[in-house]
Amino acid sequence: MDTTSDRPLVGVSACLLGQPVRYDGRHKYNTWIVEELALSCRLLPLCPETAIGLSVPREPIHLIGNPSHPDAVRVSDGQGNVGQALADYGKTIAAEYPDLCGYIFKARSPSCGISGIPVHNAQGEAIGVGMGLYARALCQAVPELPVVEEGGLTDADKRVHFLSRVHAYYRRAKRRDLTRNTLRVLP
Ligand code: SF4
Repeated sequence: MDTTSDRPLVGVSACLLGQPVRYDGRHKYNTWIVEELALSCRLLPLCPETAIGLSVPREPIHLIGNPSHPDAVRVSDGQGNVGQALADYGKTIAAEYPDLCGYIFKARSPSCGISGIPVHNAQGEAIGVGMGLYARALCQAVPELPVVEEGGLTDADKRVHFLSRVHAYYRRAKRRDLTRNTLRVLP
């Protein structure tokens, strides 16, 4: 925990911060996150698909297989499985950023979405829903982390609710750090 900062660290899908990392080379700039949330939180942009080596632009991927543990493959030919790479990256981020106090995920993404992501069979038919594979791995690694999709931040009440969870998480983490450091210096 970075106790030198009075602003909690919040992970954000990089496309929501205006980075042109989507499969089509575009972004999904979110005004409230960039212009309002950034005043009270430190924002950490992360794009799992480009981080694991996919290009911009790229062919879109989707979830396929068993809805309880799907893979992620190219929509066009069902090849190029990156499911394990996305899950591994989620675990890596959880380990590399113990300071994270919240996360805003891009909705409807097979990597970043946290609910209702369609899972397909080999014929391309939707047979169920799941979570994006990066988001799932990160949330499993840090189950108590406050998370939300940008669609869950559309009005003032929802924003205040998310922010209060983030700041409560931050205060708890700081208290834990303080206790640990105090015990360390006691004779
Ligand atoms: S992988 Fe996530 S951060 Fe990257 S473009 Fe897709 S939704 Fe945005």
